[in-house]
Amino acid sequence: MNTKLYQKSLSYLVKLCKEIPGRCVGSQGNRMATDFFQKEISSFGWDTEMQEFDAIDWTDEGATLKAGDLNFKVFVSPYSLGCAVEEQLVSVSSIEELEQKDIKGKVLLLHGQIAKEQIMPKNFVFYNPEEHKKIIALLEKNNPGAIVTATGRNPALAGGLYPFPLIEDGDFDIPSVYMTAEEGEKLLPVVGKPVVLKSVSKRIPGKGYNVVAGKGKPSTERIVITAHIDAKKGTPGAIDNAAGVIVLLLLAKLLQGYNGNRLIEIVALNGEDYYAVPGQMLYISKNQDRFNEILLNINIDGAGYKEGKSAFSFYGLPEEIKKKANQVLKKFKGIKEGVQWPQGDHSIFIQYGCPAIAVSSEWFTENIASQEITHTPKDDIEIVDCQKVVEIAEALNLLIL
Ligand SMILES: [Zn+2]
Repeated sequence: MNTKLYQKSLSYLVKLCKEIPGRCVGSQGNRMATDFFQKEISSFGWDTEMQEFDAIDWTDEGATLKAGDLNFKVFVSPYSLGCAVEEQLVSVSSIEELEQKDIKGKVLLLHGQIAKEQIMPKNFVFYNPEEHKKIIALLEKNNPGAIVTATGRNPALAGGLYPFPLIEDGDFDIPSVYMTAEEGEKLLPVVGKPVVLKSVSKRIPGKGYNVVAGKGKPSTERIVITAHIDAKKGTPGAIDNAAGVIVLLLLAKLLQGYNGNRLIEIVALNGEDYYAVPGQMLYISKNQDRFNEILLNINIDGAGYKEGKSAFSFYGLPEEIKKKANQVLKKFKGIKEGVQWPQGDHSIFIQYGCPAIAVSSEWFTENIASQEITHTPKDDIEIVDCQKVVEIAEALNLLIL
């Protein structure tokens, strides 16, 4: 074990998860994190570029829902506008009902089938089912005064959050709140009666940055190593994804003297856990015609969990890279080949035809659909084993050289 790197990773972990007040895109903490990353990686002799984009931050002071003397527990949907609406409650559980019912100006309860999975943000391009687009279009056309969503558990799509916000979209302007499915059941008898929904929240315009660092001879052939530096609001984001960012920094340190024929690009992408994925969109637009230059993408997300092994999964690797990866994996007893999973930034590179390796923890990839830690306050530094973080950086160093 390299104790110097181990000490470094511990101090990075505290910096990213404790000293910086949250790394949600658009927030000041997020900009502190990208500044810190830029300074640190330049100190290891890497050239850096800050890629700037607009991103709103958002705060809320809670919401209340009343029907006569009854109070219902509701939360403001992230990035929603606030509201004060006193109107009749109507309920809808399917797209057909949403098409037929008169909801204009009313308080609309979405529950059951229509509320089973988080609706993709309207401008999200990577994965956006027709059904989701239809729901959003119908809501905007039929224009309820406000929306209440009652949602169950869906860790695969909402991380460990329960209840999860059905709508999380700073580009959607109908105010909404969310509640548990149980609370939704209690609200159903009120349908047809007047309710009072008040919520207080604010969208704050801001900026965010990708940090792109390069080393090696200028070349058209690149190896791109990525990890998202942002975290979901309300979580320290230790496993998701401070650990990944720390791997990038340790690797940058290990490659300090690199002077090979290929360009190594290390990128702190900014927005994987933000509704509009702005950093990823910007990186794509800047590389629109250059994805064919990328020999390999390595993306680190969900790595370093204290139990189980680290898991590397492979996507479309050419024979020679696959062989090398297997040789490297054999040298590290804490790393194994893991199952493939699509919910990470490696998917972007795969979509553009690049070979990719996703680096995560066995725990994360095998419990993606049931774990209740990421995207919650439980994703804190205690669940990260920095020895695993160092081991991953050392393995990637060997793989790249
Ligand atoms: Zn993540």
